[in-house]
Amino acid sequence: MELQLSHRLQTVAKLVPAGARLLDVGSDHAYLPINLVQSGQIDYAIAGEVVKGPFESAQTNVASNQLSDKIDVRLANGLAAFEPDDAISCITICGMGGRLIAEILDNGQSKLDSVERLILQANNREDDLRAWLAHHNYRIIAEDMVTENEKFYEIIVAEHGEMTLSAQDLRFGPMLNQTKSPVFLAKWKNELQKLSHAYSVIPENKVAERKVVEDKIVAIKEALHAS
Ligand code: SAM
Repeated sequence: MELQLSHRLQTVAKLVPAGARLLDVGSDHAYLPINLVQSGQIDYAIAGEVVKGPFESAQTNVASNQLSDKIDVRLANGLAAFEPDDAISCITICGMGGRLIAEILDNGQSKLDSVERLILQANNREDDLRAWLAHHNYRIIAEDMVTENEKFYEIIVAEHGEMTLSAQDLRFGPMLNQTKSPVFLAKWKNELQKLSHAYSVIPENKVAERKVVEDKIVAIKEALHAS
């Protein structure tokens, strides 16, 4: 039976090109590569994990699904999980902070030339991740946002190219901010509520602190209302 993915990982899976040779960094249980190989969307994947416990759980899951000939599980830090001979064409890095994802990409930059697509799902600091992509000759070709268990997840798809991003683009996502999906509006309404509350409890004499929050509130209102 095909392994079922969470809505978040299903959304990531749909963005993996058919026939891609995939590296899933921080694969944990290896659910994403297992599902993609089982469905026939891809034929080969590496599940990379830096921590022994999740690495062993990935090994067990791959073996119990009889996929050891199609999925290599490797104990490795970030992009050290693959070599040029693996001919990896797509990398997924999901479920980590945006700064950690950017750091993983930064540490393995020299290996990225031959990789066509990055699919990145950061749990926070998506602005830092977009800034890294813009500074390292990537362009965002697609973005999506999903909600699961009352959390919001942004997914960024990037390929080699160029882009210039404004401060609004970095924060809200150039494509997400264009489309303004119901999930996007829900996330930013929720953030607006939290920030408005935070603002209301900052003492009036903390001028600099109030200004930082005020600027964020103005930017969110602009993103919510501009269309
Ligand atoms: N990718 C899966 C998902 O989205 O459901 C698992 C996410 S889990 C929260 C993050 C995983 O990334 C952990 O298993 C952690 O050990 C792994 N990880 C963190 N830093 C890593 C690195 N530099 N290289 C490889 N794996 C890493």
